[in-house]
Amino acid sequence: MSNLFYQGRGRKRVLDQARGVYMWDKNGRRYLDGSSGAMVCNIGHSNENVLAAMQRQMEKSTFGYRLHFETEASERLAARLAGKMPGGLNRVFFVSGGSEAVETAIKLARQHALAIGEGSRWKIISRAPSYHGCTLGALATTGYAPLTEPFEPLMRVMPKIPAPRAYLDGLDPADPETGRHYADMLAARIEAEGADSVLGFIVEPVGGASTGALVPPEGYLERVRAICDDYGVLMIMDEVMTGAGRTGAFLGGDHWGVRPDIVVMSKGIGSGYAPLGAMIADDRLVGPVLDAGGFAHGFTYAGNPLACAAGLAVLEEIDRQDLCGNAAVMGDRLLARLHGLMQRHEIIGDVRGKGLLTAFEFMADRVTGAPLPRALNAYQRFVDIAYDRGLIVYSRRTRDGIDGDHVLVCPPLILNESHIDEIIDGLDGSLTEFAAEIAPVLKA
Ligand code: PMP
Repeated sequence: MSNLFYQGRGRKRVLDQARGVYMWDKNGRRYLDGSSGAMVCNIGHSNENVLAAMQRQMEKSTFGYRLHFETEASERLAARLAGKMPGGLNRVFFVSGGSEAVETAIKLARQHALAIGEGSRWKIISRAPSYHGCTLGALATTGYAPLTEPFEPLMRVMPKIPAPRAYLDGLDPADPETGRHYADMLAARIEAEGADSVLGFIVEPVGGASTGALVPPEGYLERVRAICDDYGVLMIMDEVMTGAGRTGAFLGGDHWGVRPDIVVMSKGIGSGYAPLGAMIADDRLVGPVLDAGGFAHGFTYAGNPLACAAGLAVLEEIDRQDLCGNAAVMGDRLLARLHGLMQRHEIIGDVRGKGLLTAFEFMADRVTGAPLPRALNAYQRFVDIAYDRGLIVYSRRTRDGIDGDHVLVCPPLILNESHIDEIIDGLDGSLTEFAAEIAPVLKA
């Protein structure tokens, strides 16, 4: 028996090595990392330049407490990140992960409201389904009942509006009316809550784990931005999964030219080399908080020099190899190939994505959109089948409170054509095996 425990009783194979898009277990079996872990390892595993930068930093110092020292690594990373943000978002607060980054955004927003005399504002509206983290503050904005319900008495659960899942609602995502329809739900919710009680709206530009690569309908994010402006509500863009090139631009929001008030990042900026996250805001927000006595927030490991040195080297690799550009090109090809799989495999009901954040959703009936029976646990079973075939993918139940399963295919951004062939072969075989396994249940 192991002393370790995570989610369930099941045990995983033991990781030995990882390089590029591949990972090897202790028995020497090779896996293609088709989900970059949990959409983390954007630049691929064991990048030599990042390892060398970390080694150089380790030889100098691995820890300096942020209230005692600033470090060259954190200063340089902050400057480099700020340089990649839309207009004026130049104040960076480092943390060690995505949930911490979301907590930081919520708390900065609240302290800013207090500092400018708008202390009545405290509600953060979000969407359902959504995932913004597992700490109680971030979880309160998460729209995913299986993860939130057990903890409800501990949290001040935040208001939710429906995520813009046009494909389930029978609406055309290319029609600007569709984007307007979903965005206007935010305005209605702000009105219902009382505009002067609403502090912010948190949104992923392209939905991640909870909705499975949900690309927003035409005009949606732009209109959300305008609604936030109208009501004095801060727009918080959760770029934890979409950031650092994942969708084919440095930030997911860049595709729509939307400038949020706060950006939160993690996953891809550390790319698995070190626990790293960041919240980025502007002087307009940060200034009043500092003037009013300072930001009452901070984690011990914030701005850790080793993590920041890794992050800086990761950003250098993203630029040097033009991984945003590669994600855009390879993402289009991967998406086209996933559409090809959908033609061959009846159980795929929808394919979607942007850049290398792609997904397919299982359905029992494409026309009605009916999901596979819940008891099949398709999302878990399919991942196991692919894993046994040497392909790692990531999946979740997709619909809050209703059945449905999607599979995310999000390989490292260093992907090439032959990796795509390998992924598609692995998926094809896994889909055939899974479809045969569930056929008797579907017929019954
Ligand atoms: N926000 C989003 C959009 C995420 O995908 C995640 C992680 N899946 C988080 C926040 C939380 O990040 P972490 O697990 O690093 O705390």
